[in-house]
Amino acid sequence: MKDCPPDAIVRNEAGEVAINDTCIGCGNCAKNCPYNAIELKIKPAPKKGNLLSWLLFGHGDLGTREAAYNPDAIKKAVKCDLCIDRSGGPACVSACPTGAAFRISPEILLNQDDTAMM
Ligand code: SF4
Ligand code: SF4
Repeated sequence: MKDCPPDAIVRNEAGEVAINDTCIGCGNCAKNCPYNAIELKIKPAPKKGNLLSWLLFGHGDLGTREAAYNPDAIKKAVKCDLCIDRSGGPACVSACPTGAAFRISPEILLNQDDTAMM
């Protein structure tokens, strides 16, 4: 957070850290993260429609070479943000079929022994 030129890394009241759209992709955060939790990635281009759905239903945009080229495709920093914008909470927790992924507050985590979490 300290080395981020545009102050793109924010922490909310609950302590959750997220990276907003002002990231310029300088890479300082990724270089300094001791847990390798931050990576620089190119935002994927929108998916093109396929020929069949375009022919049959008029769905999708077949795209062109020009459309596929995205001059704004600079790398941006990404990290787990606990699905901050998802109303149902973390998608990995909802999707885990065995309940192995769950959220727990640091206070509870630090005061529990390992057997209590099993
Ligand atoms: S890569 Fe983005 S989030 Fe990370 S320090 Fe640079 S501007 Fe900030
Ligand atoms: S699915 Fe899980 S790991 Fe991925 S961003 Fe959401 S909370 Fe983080």
